[in-house]
Amino acid sequence: MIEKAIKHAKKPSFSFEIFPPKGTADLSGVYATIDGLASLAPDLISVTYGAGGSSRENTVDIASAIQNKYDIPALAHLTCVGSTKAEMDDILTHLKDKGVKNILAMRGDLGENAVLGDFKHASELIAYIKENYDFKVFGACYPEKHIEAYSMGEDLKHLKHKVECGTDELISQLFFDNNAFYSFIDKVRGIGIEVPVVAGIMPVTSAKQIDRMVSMCGATLPEEVQHFVKAYGHNSMAIKEAGIAYATSQIIDLLANGVDGIHLYTMNQPEVAKRIVENIRGILYALKVKRA
Ligand code: FAD
Repeated sequence: MIEKAIKHAKKPSFSFEIFPPKGTADLSGVYATIDGLASLAPDLISVTYGAGGSSRENTVDIASAIQNKYDIPALAHLTCVGSTKAEMDDILTHLKDKGVKNILAMRGDLGENAVLGDFKHASELIAYIKENYDFKVFGACYPEKHIEAYSMGEDLKHLKHKVECGTDELISQLFFDNNAFYSFIDKVRGIGIEVPVVAGIMPVTSAKQIDRMVSMCGATLPEEVQHFVKAYGHNSMAIKEAGIAYATSQIIDLLANGVDGIHLYTMNQPEVAKRIVENIRGILYALKVKRA
């Protein structure tokens, strides 16, 4: 496996995702999280937008701080569901003025009674941003298909269109089964999508968190994960250790198979991200893989 890793190693990117606090809660906690992550020198830190009830306004402020105060490239998430063009312009102009250069442009989840707004699909928002602004634009993709799509084929057709609308790079939904990701990459490349596809990895840190995530996005839980969640779920320290070990092994395997990049859903737990990065860095160092 190590020989395989050397053969395929190609400077994969490493990024972290954080989320702003809910409502008007103060931002000191999230800045403490960024302090912890910044010391790991990631290629990007992304900030979610409105996900899980987090404040949308804070996304701009936090992305701006990552970019300007921490001097780390920031990736601001943006969703268009229920929004007008004017509202999107307002946020995009703010982000541009603050020096943020990367946007993860999405539709957003359709909650009950959702009103679509001026953009029906992420592809429409992406085309609009590319036409009117100068951001690097990322899009979301789903190794086990988007939960609303009837089939993987249908989802891939829409993904291809999303890329043709100007997506520069894709970041995947979280997954626990690397084979699902490899099979997805084969299909993506098979239909001529050539942009980098970064793998979304979420370390399991509690049984409750995993139940919520799996029901939200439909990720398959391999037997191995089911077993350790069952065995250690009652013990917060044990499950965290098992989750760190599993995420590390997933990432090692992805790197060995030439993944374009790793996007770690940190759940605002810098100590977990740090442990995983230290594990991975040891291997990268041993392999003398120099990242740009
Ligand atoms: P789209 O690309 O528009 O796709 C949504 C569905 O519509 C898919 O089933 C697709 O097949 C279908 N579709 C696409 N185009 C067409 C078309 N032309 N005709 C018919 N059907 C079509 N949510 C948040 O609220 N905030 C966040 O910060 C956030 N961050 C995320 C980060 C990542 C890496 C990922 C993977 C997801 C994130 N999400 C976030 C969740 C995301 O908003 C949801 O998954 C949402 O339901 C879909 O967004 P999308 O941009 O993928 O939509």
